[in-house]
Order: sequence, then structure tokens, then C-alpha cells
Amino acid sequence: GILAECRDVARTYGKGPTAVVAVHGITCRIRPGLRLAVTGPSGSGKSTLLHLIAGIDRPTAGTVEWPDLHHRATEVGVVFQGPSLLPALDATENVALPLLLAGEPEDEAFRRARSALGRLAIDDLGGKLPDELSGGQAQRVAVARVLAARPLLIVADEPTGQLDHESAERVMTVLAATADELGAALVVATHDPFVAARLGQEWTMRDGRLHGAADPGLAERNGE
Ligand code: ADP
Ligand code: ADP
Repeated sequence: GILAECRDVARTYGKGPTAVVAVHGITCRIRPGLRLAVTGPSGSGKSTLLHLIAGIDRPTAGTVEWPDLHHRATEVGVVFQGPSLLPALDATENVALPLLLAGEPEDEAFRRARSALGRLAIDDLGGKLPDELSGGQAQRVAVARVLAARPLLIVADEPTGQLDHESAERVMTVLAATADELGAALVVATHDPFVAARLGQEWTMRDGRLHGAADPGLAERNGE
């Protein structure tokens, strides 16, 4: 199967002489089972590529398709860089919300939310509001929110950026274990060589282009 396919994709921000070409000339496939680190310097286009793969941004040239995803909104889970929790909801409610919106019964949604928080060893934070959480704690709640929704494609932008080594290790272990259980693909943008080493493949971005092992054939072999 193919979860996401980019063909000669570009994304430009703005128009005219001040336009910024964030990514260009990108062709790649994301298959079930792929464990991918996207690395590269700040500003090289990692976030933009992840957003395009996740379908939360559109290319300005080329095409992105999701041949084997039928309900992309629920089948793609995105861990955003930076704050993404709703401030009026406590941690458990934040994790349960996507399940409730997808029509899960309330007791099942909250059971899965508590289970996901437990996997990340933050069940004690369930009743806290985002304001009462540290950056690293909020980051783990955001990871739990994605895991509870059981996506087929997990896209995470610097999911360990604010975590100490032990918490980062747990987040990576839980992300990988969940992806294994679901038969999902896991795509992680990271600056952390430890995090990149935990994944099967590494694509490096520079000036909006994919370098190194970006050959889509590699992704396919990895995903078989
Ligand atoms: P990375 O994730 O590797 O840091 P980004 O994808 O965030 O890279 O950014 C790639 C380029 O696009 C950078 O030059 C950045 O300044 C620019 N860029 C990103 N988002 C926007 C935006 N919303 N508006 C204008 N330029 C942007
Ligand atoms: P619990 O894991 O607490 O039993 P779930 O409803 O989350 O409750 O789990 C039901 C089944 O789905 C379990 O047998 C488990 O193997 C699997 N599972 C649990 N959590 C996840 C998850 N986050 N992602 C994928 N599969 C899961």
C-alpha cells in the first residue's frame, strides 16, 4: 500500500520577489511500516514537508495523494511543533476530543484517552489544564492525543524537542510500539541524532530539497 505519495512537490510562501521556496522538487512515497527521520538544518523545509505529507498544507506545484487512506482526517495523526492543546480542556479531555468528534461513545473515548496517557507515563496529569503543564508535559499529552486516535500515518514535528533524555526515549518507544501495533508509518522531523537513530531511515533536507537516502525506492523496500 501507499499511505502518501508526493510527486515533484513544491511549496512557496508568498508571491513575487519576496517569495520563499520552502520545499521543491520532492518526490517520495510513504508506505505502511516506514520508520523515517527527516533531518536537516533549521529552515530547510522539514515542517513544510511534513505538513504536505499530512495533508494539512497544500503544495503550490506538484501533487500529494493518499491512495490507501479513505478518511484522511482520522487516519493521519499529527504531533505539531509547539503548543496545540485546547486551553479550556484538561489533558484527558484534549486526548479524548478527536475520538468524540469521530463519533466514539464518551466512555470509550475517555477510556482510550486514559490508556494513551498511561502509555506515556503521564496518567497523573489527566486532570491538569494545559496552563498547568510544562512544555515537555504538554508535548507528551499531544503525543498521547495522536496515539489514542490510532492513525495509519503518524507525522511528528520535533516531538521530543522539549524533553529530557528519559522522556524522549519513552516517547520514541511508545510511538514506535504504537506504529507497530497499528501497522502504521511513522515520520518524525528531528534535530536529535538519538531520535533519528531510533528510526529505520533518515532523509536529510537542505534548502528545501531531499538529500541522502531520499530515493523513494529505499522507502518502498523499507515499507514492504
Ligand atoms: P524547518 O522545519 O526545517 O525549520 P520550515 O519548513 O519551517 O523548515 O521552513 C522552510 C522555509 O520556509 C524557511 O525559510 C521558513 O522561513 C519558510 N517558512 C515556513 N513557514 C512559513 C510561513 N508560514 N510563511 C513564510 N515563510 C515560511
Ligand atoms: P487498552 O490498551 O487499555 O487495553 P485500548 O482500547 O487502547 O485499551 O486497546 C485495545 C487494543 O488495541 C489492545 O489490545 C491493544 O493491543 C491495542 N491498542 C491499545 N492502545 C493502542 C494504541 N495506542 N494504538 C494502537 N493499538 C492500541
